[in-house]
Amino acid sequence: MAERFRAILVTRDEDRKQTAATTEITDADLMDGDVTVRVEATTVNYKDGLAITGRAPVVRRFPLVPGIDFAGVVTASGNPDWKPGDRVILNGWGTGETHHGAYADYSRVKGEWLVPLPDGMSAEQAMAIGTAGYTAMLSVMALERHGIVPSRGPVVVTGAAGGVGSVAIALLAKAGHHVVASTGRASEADYLKSLGAAEIIERAELSAPAKPLAKERWAGGVDAVGSHTLANVLSMTSYGGAVAACGLAGGMDLPSSVAPFILRGVSLLGIDSVMAPKALRLEAWKRLASELDRSSLAAITTTIRFEDIAAAAQDIVDGRIRGRVVVRM
Ligand code: NDP
Repeated sequence: MAERFRAILVTRDEDRKQTAATTEITDADLMDGDVTVRVEATTVNYKDGLAITGRAPVVRRFPLVPGIDFAGVVTASGNPDWKPGDRVILNGWGTGETHHGAYADYSRVKGEWLVPLPDGMSAEQAMAIGTAGYTAMLSVMALERHGIVPSRGPVVVTGAAGGVGSVAIALLAKAGHHVVASTGRASEADYLKSLGAAEIIERAELSAPAKPLAKERWAGGVDAVGSHTLANVLSMTSYGGAVAACGLAGGMDLPSSVAPFILRGVSLLGIDSVMAPKALRLEAWKRLASELDRSSLAAITTTIRFEDIAAAAQDIVDGRIRGRVVVRM
């Protein structure tokens, strides 16, 4: 390990004003953990954008290295499950929130947080998927557990051109679903169709206050937006359907009623990637390795440098990022 290495550090002054700056840290600055990883690739998720811009209180300990996910190679291990040279992925577990995260050349974490990089997948491909893609897979798996098969009818994906949305469309279309993609960016229609979306609808169709029940339009969906959008998606879900709620890009509230639940038997499936148990993570990554077309993955990916992270963080919270951003370290 180099004596000093690159890191982004989020600090807070006496007025609780948060700043993110690139600096250098040493091994002694890394936090407790039994496995040290050289970060080969990371990414900029929506939550990372919130952390770096300070737009929401994602960082809860200062100073902190942000970055909620990485792929890399183990350089030192006191954990029997891992040895130097192993290729690993980390998603969540509080990294980039309360534990130093991905935006440094090295990270020290608990071995139990890591999953193996699937065979045949590069670190950059794993981060093209990243936490957004892994969350999309968790959402698809939740819909499947609820019996949402293609013959039940269309499925809707909101925040379609974002990271979760793009991967969810690719996975659902590959599984044979008729995917309705809701986007605020009409200019991305061709992109969304190339991922497998069968229909594109305007974000505005779902963003006004929802009626308790509306015309049944889909059997289920993946919602990355929350607020009125999720309320509308629920009110338009057909009898016995299910919606996986995983995001809040449009707001944290849920101005809905119980009507879809008690009159149509609709289910709201909560998706959390941060503390998801290891067995679920292993299944999600195994399926991502085999079911997500590498050509679709390449189509949704933009690669940037470490120096570009702050700009990408601003872009993602402003809704200007399409698909996924990979940071090559
Ligand atoms: P992105 O920014 O890549 O995608 C979000 C998309 O939502 C945008 O591309 C845009 O899609 C849409 N959008 C943005 N702002 C608004 C708005 N004001 N109203 C309606 N739609 C909007 O983020 P990610 O895909 O990385 O994450 C999506 C959400 O999922 C975030 O809220 C994130 O925090 C959450 N998340 C949750 C996880 C969990 O564990 N539950 C894990 C990972 C992410 P378009 O332009 O197509 O309309």
